[in-house]
Formats: sequence, structure tokens, C-alpha cells
Amino acid sequence: MTEHAAGRFAPSPSGDLHLGNLRTALLAWLFARSTGRAFRIRVEDLDRVRPGAAERQLADLAAIGLDWDGPVTWQSRRIDRHHAVIDELSAAGLTYECFCTRREIQQAASAPHGPMGAYPGTCRALTATERAARRAEGRPAALRLRSRTAEFEIVDELHGRYRGVVDDFVLRRGDGTPAYNLAVVVDDADQGIDQVVRGDDLLPSTPRQAYLATLLGFSVPRYAHVPLVLNREGKRLAKRDGAVTLADRLALGETPGDVVALLAASLGYRANTPVELLGSFRPESLPGQPWTFDPLDVVNSGGNP
Ligand code: GLU
Repeated sequence: MTEHAAGRFAPSPSGDLHLGNLRTALLAWLFARSTGRAFRIRVEDLDRVRPGAAERQLADLAAIGLDWDGPVTWQSRRIDRHHAVIDELSAAGLTYECFCTRREIQQAASAPHGPMGAYPGTCRALTATERAARRAEGRPAALRLRSRTAEFEIVDELHGRYRGVVDDFVLRRGDGTPAYNLAVVVDDADQGIDQVVRGDDLLPSTPRQAYLATLLGFSVPRYAHVPLVLNREGKRLAKRDGAVTLADRLALGETPGDVVALLAASLGYRANTPVELLGSFRPESLPGQPWTFDPLDVVNSGGNP
């Protein structure tokens, strides 16, 4: 492994991390450390920031025994760099302004042609006059990628080859904020991230990101999209499902070690610390199915199944 190889965890500070987020963070750490990589944390605070949440997230990661290399990166401090990359793409003729509202996109995208959820290209061929007219109406313009492909294939450690849609996705939102799909690609490349481990809800966006990376001349990282944690109803675990954050579990009398043991058990291991888990961690034997967590089942069990 080269000196600069690194994995990362990139939480959005919209609230406390729940067991699903902690499990993904633990997996990202295990993938990085078990392959001799550095491990970095990037707080993705361009959006949905709840005051104090980032600090609590970092404290929770440390409390369950995860460590990281170098200072935490705050995405909001990198906005100038994001805009510089957007300008580069624009100078290369690879962007266009889009004046569509969310509603217009939904209506157009549900038309009986084109891939589901893909932007149908409504504003792609607007003339300068048409653009000026829309600006004059006061419509805020987002900036989209003028994609030269409709699909792109990536390789994922858990999902194998995965081919997915690349549409003219948003690079800069109507409010001027760099979009997630742009920021994540630029930040991963600048931070030397060559291994991206995250929830498999993000797998469908990955071909877009990998394609953008190649357009910008960045190498495409290795990906591992890990299964999410589900609640009793088979839906993605959420705060309202009960005692699902570290603070909630501690309030029930569990220790951080109990919480690690619970996460380890969900992955098929017995361990009370990440370091202990590292000795036996084998990415190829990870469960491919989501873990269903019922907070009521483990109350008072000490979390140590
Ligand atoms: N910030 C994103 C989230 O918390 C994750 C982005 C990523 O790992 O690429 O959902």
C-alpha cells in the first residue's frame, strides 16, 4: 500500500450518529486499517447542519475506539476549491445552467422514456436568449454537468461490477452551494482517498461520481458499499426507532464496549473493541444482507449477544 492510500468516513452533521452510521464507520475503519491505509474523517457540512452535531459525532467515534489520521476536514472550508473545479468544468464546456424546479423535473423524469430518476435534459439546449429570459423571471439557476455518457461502470468490493446511470447531475445548486456529488469527488481526490466505504444507499450515485472523477483526471477510488441497518419494519434505521444512538445505549446502562460488541456480532464477530475486531476481520465474509435491529430486543441484554 502506498504511503498516501487512505480510507475515510464522511458523516453529515445532521444529528447524532445511530447504530447504522456507527456500523458503517466501524466498517470503513476496518477496511482501511486491515489494508494498511490511513483513515480520515471528513465532516460533510455543506448542508443539513445541526449545531453541535459534528462535535458529538466525532466524540462518539472516538468513544467506540475509532481513531483517525490527521486533522478532521470540514467540507465547508473547501468551498473555494469546489467552485474552482466547477469553473474548470465550465471553461471546458462541460456545464450548463438549469432553471427547472423540483416539480418540473419530477414530471419530466416520469415520462415514459429515459432512465428512472435521471434528469431528462430539459435545459441542456437552451439558447442564450432563453437562459436570459429565465434569469429575468428570477429563477435561480443550478449548474449541471453536460455528461457525455448515459452510464458508467464501477467495481465494488461487495457488489462486483455495477453499471449505473450518469445523467446531467447538479454540480452547483440553485442557492450557489456545491452539490454533494461534486464535493465528494473533489474532496476524496484531494485527500488521497483511494478507498470509499459507505452505506449501499449511495451505490446508485457512484457511477456519476466515478465518471466525474475520470473527467477531472482523478483516479477512481475502490468502493465498498456496505448494507444498511434496518428497523423491524424493514425500513432504514432512524432515530425514532428507539434507543439507537451511543448516548441512548449508554443511558440504558451499556458501555461503549457493549455497543462495539453488538456491532461486531452483527458482522459475525465477537469483539469489544475495533482493534480486537481488526485481528479477525475478513471483508469477503461480511454479511451481504442488511442487519435488522430492534432496539427493544436488546434492552437490558447488555448488548453482548
Ligand atoms: N455524507 C454522506 C452521508 O452521511 C456520506 C457521503 C459518502 O460517504 O460519500 O450520507
